Amino acid sequence: MQGEGIVQSLSSLSCVRCSKPASLQCPKCMDLKLPREGASFCTQDCFKASWSSHKAVHLKAKLSTMTDQLNLDADTDGWLYCTRKGQGRSGFAPNFDWTGPLRPYPISSMRTVPAHIDKPDWAEDGTPKIEPYSDLQNTVEIKTPEQIKRMRETCRLGREILDAAARVIRPGITTDEIDRVVHEATIAGGGYPSPLNYHFFPKSCCTSVNEVICHGIPDARKLEDGDIVNVDVSVYYKGCHGDLNETFFVGNVDEASQQLVRCTYECLEKAIAIVKPGVRFREVGEVINRHATMSGLSVVKSYCGHGIGDLFHCAPNIPHYARNKAVGVMKAGQTFTIEPMINAGVWRDRLWPDGWTAVTADGKRSAQFEHTLLVTESGVEVLTGRLPSSPKVFPWLDA
Ligand SMILES: [Zn+2]
Ligand SMILES: [Zn+2]
Repeated sequence: MQGEGIVQSLSSLSCVRCSKPASLQCPKCMDLKLPREGASFCTQDCFKASWSSHKAVHLKAKLSTMTDQLNLDADTDGWLYCTRKGQGRSGFAPNFDWTGPLRPYPISSMRTVPAHIDKPDWAEDGTPKIEPYSDLQNTVEIKTPEQIKRMRETCRLGREILDAAARVIRPGITTDEIDRVVHEATIAGGGYPSPLNYHFFPKSCCTSVNEVICHGIPDARKLEDGDIVNVDVSVYYKGCHGDLNETFFVGNVDEASQQLVRCTYECLEKAIAIVKPGVRFREVGEVINRHATMSGLSVVKSYCGHGIGDLFHCAPNIPHYARNKAVGVMKAGQTFTIEPMINAGVWRDRLWPDGWTAVTADGKRSAQFEHTLLVTESGVEVLTGRLPSSPKVFPWLDA
């Protein structure tokens, strides 16, 4: 360190070496924002003479900064990157040919569910045992009045949970904090968050930001002004599942993203409007594709709507794209989801190294809306429909 860098002081401090009035301050100490009392010198000569002992002050300051950093790390203890379809954790960010600007962040450790809450069979070890081998993967169940009553209650709870999440969304909040709200609201309502440990999914809901199509894992990333974020809530309550999602605006969102989200909302509305006994499941994709392509948007093909009830995912499979090969017709008493994912660019998706996060192949944005529906004798009942108390977050609904 040479004396040339020393800067003029305006205060009346005394020299660290000789105690005479000091007029100079060590520039390094100022960089490190150290107290001026230990950094003041009368002349360049005194500063130079003190250098060999004074520089220890800088080292000590750097070490304490490093300790602060270590303490910071301690605050996020257990926060690691998710790998291997939810089963792996790593301290290092994975390498990947990322399709857009978004990156994965570390995730917090798994949240716990109190013993008194009734749990699905994957809660303990991550593996669904009944669901994959059930007859209900091949035949579409007609729900009994008792099942329908339970579905109504469960879906209503799901709606209240999603509304709780919607109320906390703003720039600066992490998706992990959204997950905490969902987790706690689910438990407070007496339910189990269906995604938690489902095929090892590590969190209680999916949060899909910007170019994420679906199954985004809540993590330490703070939402930024201009983001869009989908929150997908599924709840297990009274022996059955309810499933719904919405895409929210974070602060001020550009016009194109607003159009994307609104068009996706309309795609779901138009699909629901055709639901009634006798309609072919494959018609759903025709309606959605027509509205999306009209706006220059594309429809995701890899993820579909699904039957739901005592099982989280079962028959029927309901594609959202045109010219699909879905079999069967709708009958009163069936419950299933419609959940179109609409992309601003190409329809193609890619999977992140975490094995869950589906992103657009071109990195452009994607939006989604989902409802759980009941086919009635005369048409449809939206079991997860918005309530008078639901937050007013979609401008087109308040106009
Ligand atoms: Zn869902
Ligand atoms: Zn779903």
